[in-house]
Amino acid sequence: MNILITEYANIILVGGLLDRAQIDSLSVESEDAFWDLLYWSNVIREKFFGNKIRVCSIVPGRLGGCDQDCAFCSQSIKYDTATEKKAQTISDEQILSAAADAANNGVPFIGIVNSGRAPSTNEFARLEKLIAKIKSDYGIGVCASLGILTAEQMQKLAAAGLDRYNHNLETSERYYGKIVTTHKYADRVNTVKAAKQADLGVCCGGLFGIGETHADRIDMAMALRELEIDMVPMNFLHPIEGTPLADSEEIPPKEILRIIALYRFILPKAHLKAAGGRVLNLRDMQSWIFPAGVTSILTGNYLTTAGRAVQEDMQMLKDMGLEAISN
Ligand code: SF4
Repeated sequence: MNILITEYANIILVGGLLDRAQIDSLSVESEDAFWDLLYWSNVIREKFFGNKIRVCSIVPGRLGGCDQDCAFCSQSIKYDTATEKKAQTISDEQILSAAADAANNGVPFIGIVNSGRAPSTNEFARLEKLIAKIKSDYGIGVCASLGILTAEQMQKLAAAGLDRYNHNLETSERYYGKIVTTHKYADRVNTVKAAKQADLGVCCGGLFGIGETHADRIDMAMALRELEIDMVPMNFLHPIEGTPLADSEEIPPKEILRIIALYRFILPKAHLKAAGGRVLNLRDMQSWIFPAGVTSILTGNYLTTAGRAVQEDMQMLKDMGLEAISN
């Protein structure tokens, strides 16, 4: 057993946090001691979260037609992808039907995700009504991912019954400008702070496999720690034809597990959500995310790519002795 990893795990298990120097040395050790890292990540996960796994699914509210330039995204009009250039608004009926499906399948949380920098006034008003209706008719939790919003808009969403707001940092502040130029890293941080001020839960994480370095991954984790984020979606690039990242190298399954485990050591009490790119990149190793430290999954289809059937993920949880609960 690797002595340093064991020592650091024991600091965490009694409620401590690793500092940057410790995290950097852990990163070096974990290159050779992958299984030790996973062993202790699993112990840390069980200590703070037991066998509970938070499950959610997403439904688009608006697809495509986005004037922003996130280099990984099929919905940007700047890139020649298979997604329609004209934005498509998903009807109220379709969104409510997705909420009903989630409730019927035992998925306790649904997220509405819009393309675009921010919703129009009309779209915002529509979403306020939809959030209130989902809460009253289906009794499941609601999350929204609507881009850059003001503190006032966050208050309105909270009043409508929204439980959580999703807004990712995507990567480190240093690398951010290589991935997005149409809005700033600070815009993202401010949106996260506005959601927190409105007492919304915040789901904030990022994307891996976009050319970032190991130090970028740690920087993002430290930024999330500073923002006191308690739900961290971890996405793994699914390269989309036509985007600047179309030819990116695949991120191997063991590397994904190592990133998750490192995040478990850096953010021991935050939920880590395995989100976009899980199914594609992990192949046969889906269930290994739990020993690596994951405590939440996004199930069903993603926005523009297919995921796994909800029943398949629910069976995986059952087989692992884990229990799906609400956010
Ligand atoms: S703002 Fe959202 S929809 Fe627009 S390009 Fe970026 S990730 Fe895609």
